[in-house]
Amino acid sequence: MSDSALSLREFTRQLPKAELHVHIEGTLEPELIFKLAQRNQITLPYPDQASLHAAYQFDNLQSFLDLYYAGAGVLITEQDFFDMTWAYFLRAKADGIIHTEIMFDPQTHTARGVSIETVFAGIAGAARQAKAELGISSYLIMSFLRHLSEAEAFATLDAALPLRERYADLWIAIGLDSSELGNPPEKFQAVYARCRELGFRLVAHAGEEGPASYVRDALQLLKVERIDHGVRSEDDPALMQYLIDHSIPLTVCPLSNIKLKVFDSLDDHNLKNLLDRGLNVCINSDDPAYFGGYLLDNYMQTAQALNLTASHLRILAANSLRSSFLPEQYQQAWLQALDNVPAHD
Ligand SMILES: [Zn+2]
Repeated sequence: MSDSALSLREFTRQLPKAELHVHIEGTLEPELIFKLAQRNQITLPYPDQASLHAAYQFDNLQSFLDLYYAGAGVLITEQDFFDMTWAYFLRAKADGIIHTEIMFDPQTHTARGVSIETVFAGIAGAARQAKAELGISSYLIMSFLRHLSEAEAFATLDAALPLRERYADLWIAIGLDSSELGNPPEKFQAVYARCRELGFRLVAHAGEEGPASYVRDALQLLKVERIDHGVRSEDDPALMQYLIDHSIPLTVCPLSNIKLKVFDSLDDHNLKNLLDRGLNVCINSDDPAYFGGYLLDNYMQTAQALNLTASHLRILAANSLRSSFLPEQYQQAWLQALDNVPAHD
């Protein structure tokens, strides 16, 4: 790596950044999968970490999800969920993340007999410790698996609501993830309406593999404030104008998009085009243990492939702060700190 590339990386690391699109189960590294399998006496279908890692070659979203759900099968106890989440926070600290909004999928775990209380307790325990010890704030986005039914989403919401008060400092939002194609936003219209009545902030994955119309439907039918991915919006000029006019955040995940073949290569990614058109895009890692890089690697590899400048990187970081659910005064304080990071020459 050249000196100038190194210093651009250090400049980017120093920018206060929020990560708004990360699935905590997608931060489970092979090393921890094996450690937890041993702790819980689970036999994995891979002899060692290297052979598990070698399986991380995906044809599309579904081929990734199959492996992802298998990996999450080692999570049994509160300590397991804590250890996974704490490992993410340590990486977040190293990358200069000052605030993160973490998605988690209770249904992946309750289907295996793990209680929803265990899931919440482990993740929230690590989040509170990260605030106290690492100075990283966070919120939790409880996400519904869209390949399951809306009735199952309602059941998950009902099971989680008794915990709302206990985790009121963290659990403020609802998301929608998993297999997009064939599971359009309208399938979850009633449960999103209920979550809205309950006062939750709303986000949803849309326009990753699915068409631009899913982005429109997530905004109009589910009434989400933020779109996860949304890169396919480019196919619909009227939608693009709407996103610009309303400054709707798109939480873009470049390395994920390459691994899951949404784009052929980073050189072909439309992030810079979206940014130059004036869309409110930010960079995120999605499932970093599976996609080959955490947040700073997403920033730097994208910058290199698309010739992003230091001022692009500053705008991307500012967008992440402004698109977060942090109260306005905290956003302003972090934006001020961002302005104070010395310019990269
Ligand atoms: Zn995602």
